[in-house]
Amino acid sequence: MLNNDCVFCKIIRGEIPSSKVYEDDVMLVFKDIEPKAKVHLLAVPKDHFKLLSEADDGRAAALSHMLSVIPSVAAENGCAGGYRLIINQGDDAGQTVFHLHIHILGGEQLPW
Ligand code: AMP
Ligand code: ZN
Repeated sequence: MLNNDCVFCKIIRGEIPSSKVYEDDVMLVFKDIEPKAKVHLLAVPKDHFKLLSEADDGRAAALSHMLSVIPSVAAENGCAGGYRLIINQGDDAGQTVFHLHIHILGGEQLPW
């Protein structure tokens, strides 16, 4: 299910533009609009939920699929030298978009 007020749902529906690098039935990967590394992609499920704690079996399967696809998408988009995945969860992590997303950061040596 998508959400009418969510920026990532709007991107999934094509209502606002994005720089897509990968799409299938389950997920979309696009460039972050404010990149925090030379390569900064966002992988999102085509299902609106905020937290891993909301993942039922179907959502867990979608997340597993995303993790299986991310290595090749990352390698093909400038992260052959490695990359970092981040999933911000809730206020203390600074989550600003309440549609679960996996940050893919790379393209350079990342500071820890
Ligand atoms: P988070 O802080 O984990 O919720 O990250 C949300 C990310 O979404 C930030 O890195 C934003 O730069 C990014 N973002 C917000 N709006 C857009 C957009 N329209 N297109 C691409 N990335 C976006
Ligand atoms: Zn959404």
